[in-house]
Amino acid sequence: MPFCDIIGHDLPIRSLKAALGQGRLAHAYLFHGEPHIGKFFTATRLAQALNCDHPSSLEQFDGCGLCRSCLQVASRTYPDYVVIESDQESAVPQIKIDQIREIEQQLIYRPLIGERKICLIDDADRLTIGAANALLKTLEEPPGYGLFILISSRPQALPITIRSRCQALRFTPPTHAQAERTLIAQRNISQAEARFLTLYSDRRIGEALTLDIETLHAQQRECLDLVAPSTLQSITTVLTVAEQLAKSGRSAEVLGWLSHWIRDLMVVIVGGDLDYLLHLDQLDQLHRYAKRADSDILLELLNEIERTEQQATRHLNMHMALETILLRLRDGLGVTRTEVTT
Ligand SMILES: [Zn+2]
Repeated sequence: MPFCDIIGHDLPIRSLKAALGQGRLAHAYLFHGEPHIGKFFTATRLAQALNCDHPSSLEQFDGCGLCRSCLQVASRTYPDYVVIESDQESAVPQIKIDQIREIEQQLIYRPLIGERKICLIDDADRLTIGAANALLKTLEEPPGYGLFILISSRPQALPITIRSRCQALRFTPPTHAQAERTLIAQRNISQAEARFLTLYSDRRIGEALTLDIETLHAQQRECLDLVAPSTLQSITTVLTVAEQLAKSGRSAEVLGWLSHWIRDLMVVIVGGDLDYLLHLDQLDQLHRYAKRADSDILLELLNEIERTEQQATRHLNMHMALETILLRLRDGLGVTRTEVTT
């Protein structure tokens, strides 16, 4: 798929095309911005554009996406294209020094087919200190045919010495309309489903393209049961639900949904734009809660949920954390003070 299939990212792409057109491509780029919005996708397209068997005019500089070279880049089998990733299987994914040494070895030799050896480092902020130092040496004296593309959603976590050696290109999420149009076209789904996925993923199109809608709806129903007055009115029920959830292994998903629901409620409380409510069909209930809710407690609760999500992989007592969150939710929604009927 050529550049023209990328959703949004007009500015970084224009900048890359201008550099290509003028023959002034930097030797190292840092593509940064939120996760799952198309940084990796764009980097792959750039590698295709540089190696396509049927190159377009310099101005239109683009890859066809269909030729042997473009397909090999997409499947990561193109000889002059290397992708380095962190080990996602480990508890703390890292990019190790051995992986950088491997690139160094490959960079000794000139490209086999194309004009450049392209090295894409995904989640570059996961470089160990040793790996970052090794990479820095290469970035300081790169061979003329080397092109590095570092990708990161946490660029501030990269050593400044590395950042200063890269030309930074910032990627921003597509608009809601762009994301919805893409989802309708690529997933063949309804406007309502596209809206749902766009809001749930917060326009992270890479994520929205792969999410299972039925699973999400099931999680959403579970969250709505949780915030129903019939659940929250009884402390015994709240504690039982916390226990069941902790045992279920689905706490993270439900907490994610709870976070979305609370944010929707905050939008209603402050009189924000209802177009962006994920739970738009629950508007009546949100309005009822909005009248009695304590927004300070709810904001604190959002932070608490975020902290719990971050610590969920460590030795956190999830049962206790859920109890605290649900009891706090009860306070924040004013269920203890006034009955809210459905
Ligand atoms: Zn091609």
